Amino acid sequence: MENIKITVGHLYPKQLNLYGDMGNIKWRGIDFEYIEVNAGDKIPSCDIYFIGGGQDKEQVEVSKYLYEQKDFLIEQRENWAVFLGICGGYQLFGHYYQPFEGERLNGISLLDAYTVAGKKRFIGNVTARTGFLRPSTLVGFENHSGLTYIKGDTKPLAILTIGNGNNGFDNTEGAKFMNVFGTYLHGSLLPKNPHFADFLITLALEKRYEDEIELASLDDKLEYIAHRAVVGKDY
Ligand code: GLN
Repeated sequence: MENIKITVGHLYPKQLNLYGDMGNIKWRGIDFEYIEVNAGDKIPSCDIYFIGGGQDKEQVEVSKYLYEQKDFLIEQRENWAVFLGICGGYQLFGHYYQPFEGERLNGISLLDAYTVAGKKRFIGNVTARTGFLRPSTLVGFENHSGLTYIKGDTKPLAILTIGNGNNGFDNTEGAKFMNVFGTYLHGSLLPKNPHFADFLITLALEKRYEDEIELASLDDKLEYIAHRAVVGKDY
């Protein structure tokens, strides 16, 4: 398929962009339109939406912007748009985030999940296994005090091998529902997990072109060296 194009909406990067999450806006030579969505902007229709992580105080601000456009974002989910949320952004994909202090933040309920801040901060390397990627592993770095619990048709993104993931006790990491994906893995996530990046790109292209898409294979040698260097790394 020639002349394929894709639009990527980067939600509130001025507030939520921790630990190089910006590095997830990588591409593979596909003609893509990058749209930065900032405070006061109307969120446009995109093929892929990305939102990074951040401190509680930035989340207070962003939760208001997102909640104002919740209905539109749910409509986008129902149209199978692809969403990727990292940590703080992931938490706002659920119904709410209750920080340790201060008011409860509204989420946009893209995922049937909720988050409450715990006393302990989880900081360290994470390895987790998915049931839908080859290789099955996802690796990254977590730094959060939020404890996320997922319910209903929302399922874990992966099962932990090393790390704390969603809440440090149910052995799950991240969440997925339809084409919405959330994870606690900073890293940047996608350069260290190119198979997940390609999975998301394929989902977005198949939805846009209503056709099966097979991406050309890339020389991801360096990315997989980085991936394997973290697999099984101690917490
Ligand atoms: N402020 C949230 C927490 O501590 C998210 C942190 C992050 O995005 N790294 O859980």
